[in-house]
Amino acid sequence: MFEKYKSHFQSSIPRIPEAKYAHIVVLRETDSYAVFKTDGELNVARVRSGLKAPTTVISRLVLFKRKQTTPERLTGRELLRRYGIHDSIKAQYKSMKDKDLGDCAYNENPCGGCPDCVIYGYAIGDSGSEKSKIFIDSAYAIPAYEESHGTFTLNAPYEDGTMTRGTDTTNRFSEQDHVLPEVPFPSVVTLRDPSPNSFLYVLNNLYRTKRYGAQTTRTGQVRNKIVAVIFADGEIFSNLRLTQKLHDLLGDACLPYAPDVLKSKTEEAISSLIREDGVLYELVIGEPLAALQNEAEAILSDETAFKAWLNALSQETLTYAEASKVIKKK
Ligand SMILES: [Zn+2]
Repeated sequence: MFEKYKSHFQSSIPRIPEAKYAHIVVLRETDSYAVFKTDGELNVARVRSGLKAPTTVISRLVLFKRKQTTPERLTGRELLRRYGIHDSIKAQYKSMKDKDLGDCAYNENPCGGCPDCVIYGYAIGDSGSEKSKIFIDSAYAIPAYEESHGTFTLNAPYEDGTMTRGTDTTNRFSEQDHVLPEVPFPSVVTLRDPSPNSFLYVLNNLYRTKRYGAQTTRTGQVRNKIVAVIFADGEIFSNLRLTQKLHDLLGDACLPYAPDVLKSKTEEAISSLIREDGVLYELVIGEPLAALQNEAEAILSDETAFKAWLNALSQETLTYAEASKVIKKK
């Protein structure tokens, strides 16, 4: 798998970091009204508008790190359950304290050996901890706050569909700020010391996760569009710098941005920023990126190949967890 990029991958997940990084550059674009908030209000940050005009400060919507990783982890974990990975781990392994492994539960009871525990890490009380191999930072909307949100009143009408009863008008409504559709949040998802299997796991989670933030049934849809993969021997530019660079390159363009313009400007921004990062890298965009994604999709869309890959991946993370003395065979 991914033979062309063999030199950038580890053959299996190593115990000690070895300066191999796969950076996946994603445009996360809202596909419906979304709500990214922590305490009642949408998350907003005051930051410089672009790299060019360093004194102009604007407010931008922020998609916090956890708001990105949690749904992506849950997507992967759901599949681990559906295809029996968690059950088979539970049946075969004990923890190092010689306890039978219980059900692996996100943020509560990590099993320590499944792909999610090993790749995304955990730190729960006396269950120990595993450093995440995924680095994600908060993502910032390209346009200013004023252009990228709207305020709506949510009504709760009576049975007859009206807001009045007798002479009274219901006060059953509330106001909520929403992120508008088609607002892009550029975000770099970094996987340290990728193996072909762990890299595909992260890609799959990005492809499949379609809902972020506070949500009611069908809202909160977000589409992840992968614009580049950068294999490097170190860390690269931040999400904020990428957003600011894009702000400069898009100039006066208004929302919604034309998809082809957004894509080409993002490629341009990446190519320019990566040169300033002082790392050795291979930038995969355009045709080579399409080929890489086709290779991934060939496995992800074929049930037999998919199951074989998921089993190989969990073998790899179990071997890693055994070597780290987190779990042992029954
Ligand atoms: Zn687990």
